[in-house]
Amino acid sequence: MNIPISKPNVGEREIAAISEVIRSGMIAQGPKVQEFERRFAEYHGVKHAIASTNGTTALQMAMLANGIGAGDEVIIPSFSFFATASSILFTGAKPVFADIDPETFNLDPASAESVITEKTKAIMPVHLYGQAADMPAFEALAKKHGLILLEDAAQSHGAKLEGRFVGTWGTSGFSFYPTKNMTTCEGGMLTTQDDEVAERARMIRNHGMSQQYLHEMVGFNFRMTDLMAAMGLIQLDNLPKWTAIRNNNASYYNETLKNVIKPLVRDNATHVYHQYTIRMPDGVDRDEVMKQIQAKGVGVRVYYPLPIHRQPIFEKMGGYENIDLPQTEKATREVMSLPIHPLLTEAERERVAQVINEVI
Ligand SMILES: *Cc1c(COP(=O)(O)O)cnc(C)c1O
Repeated sequence: MNIPISKPNVGEREIAAISEVIRSGMIAQGPKVQEFERRFAEYHGVKHAIASTNGTTALQMAMLANGIGAGDEVIIPSFSFFATASSILFTGAKPVFADIDPETFNLDPASAESVITEKTKAIMPVHLYGQAADMPAFEALAKKHGLILLEDAAQSHGAKLEGRFVGTWGTSGFSFYPTKNMTTCEGGMLTTQDDEVAERARMIRNHGMSQQYLHEMVGFNFRMTDLMAAMGLIQLDNLPKWTAIRNNNASYYNETLKNVIKPLVRDNATHVYHQYTIRMPDGVDRDEVMKQIQAKGVGVRVYYPLPIHRQPIFEKMGGYENIDLPQTEKATREVMSLPIHPLLTEAERERVAQVINEVI
């Protein structure tokens, strides 16, 4: 048995929807993108949703539409995918790293507050693994220090905190990469409650145009295609069902796994389990047990083995040598994610749990 960490979850409905778009003759950004944006916004209870080419460009648009650029600092966790930081670097602004809460793996509000300077312009928590960061705390922090609030929601489609969806607090970026909870092959979505941010984001996405061939600014081509949006509409339909399956798989692991530290779900939060991430008990060498587990055909993976601020590019840029993020460093050594995707069979998840219990 070979059990992958994730599987693209697309089928006949997507094929039919894409074929219909091809036959319509309108294949670039058109009515399907508009419909996908409207439905995505409705689902998350947010005023605006603006589709783009991928999650990274959605985050980059979120920065630019909020006027973030050279001379500004943006506070983020270092325990995330690299794009959390590159979306800031592309604007000329500087990522500033803060530590995580060891129980949720999300940005720690107290650590974030400790790195605020006069240059701090924004703060962008990541809803890592599918659970919302402490947004009420970050909202209060942003208010207190006059900062822009952003969200990296690339891993958390449909996750809620205190009854409110992620993507509704600040300007947010979602990803539709195939491993994410819903996919358009490649794709992304910016969400915002702010009319002006939305208007600027739409211009940034389309060559800085306010109307055809009238360029108000230098923008990009970050347009999604109607092909991808047609797929996204089907995926969005299926999202609640798939999230329920992910939760069901998580419950099974919670009941069955023995010697590992299991993921914590905060009070008043829903977890959408983009990843089911365990932590090693004291004295267990994560890399050693991971090899043994993989050798038995269970596709466990580490997200993420190296903190962003320790990546070679940050070493080359300099200025990041003396940053001390103990919880981040500890997590990179101790975490391991298990297959939890909606296509996992009961036999597969039983095998995953059996192998983990055997090896650890
Ligand atoms: C996937 C991901 C991104 C980037 O999304 P892409 O669609 O791959 O560009 C950004 N941040 C986080 C946390 C991610 O997991």
